Amino acid sequence: MNFPSSIAVFCGSKPGHDPKQIETARALGRAMGENGIELVYGGGRVGLMGAVADAVQEAGGKVTGIIPDFLMQREVGNTKVDALEVTDSMHSRKRRMFDLADAFITLPGGLGTLDETIEIITWKQLKLHDKPIVVINVGGYWDLLASATRHFTDAGFAYASDAELFRVVDSVDAALDALRDIAPGTPNPSSERL
Ligand code: AMP
Repeated sequence: MNFPSSIAVFCGSKPGHDPKQIETARALGRAMGENGIELVYGGGRVGLMGAVADAVQEAGGKVTGIIPDFLMQREVGNTKVDALEVTDSMHSRKRRMFDLADAFITLPGGLGTLDETIEIITWKQLKLHDKPIVVINVGGYWDLLASATRHFTDAGFAYASDAELFRVVDSVDAALDALRDIAPGTPNPSSERL
């Protein structure tokens, strides 16, 4: 059973009110560390972002953080990580996370998490890449993403097949199962157009 060698995790810079969210972030980090999957993430020490990074490292895994210089203070740049890359913009941060990751997992988060997830889905819709995207729907948190996609389809603004651009699962185990045995490093012939 093979896992991708690196996964970018998009998640909240806040912890959320439901302790289940931070537990799930920690469980994901632990599972990634134990399975030798490198974490690529936004480089902060706060919220779910910090929780997932700490758990990967505690389980012996590698963490690469990518953070724009202006957010080093606000999101408390995580100097404990194995590699911290400081970018000059949000755009270059997202691009770098995309380049370094073989797959993407979204945990609960706010507007930033939504933006990152939608962008990676729309790049896939435009066939600029073919990397797997999995959303962990802790406690139904991301139901709105699936229902928004259905709404767009019903209204004639999306294809029904767009719902297949990403998987929505209920647990960390199901997320890793969805990423098992996917061909590593699937080439992205169009990604230079991003
Ligand atoms: P949030 O979900 O709002 O807590 O944000 C999660 C992460 O997304 C944080 O590292 C934010 O810096 C980042 N973020 C916020 N806005 C954007 C955006 N427009 N594009 C990309 N990332 C963002």
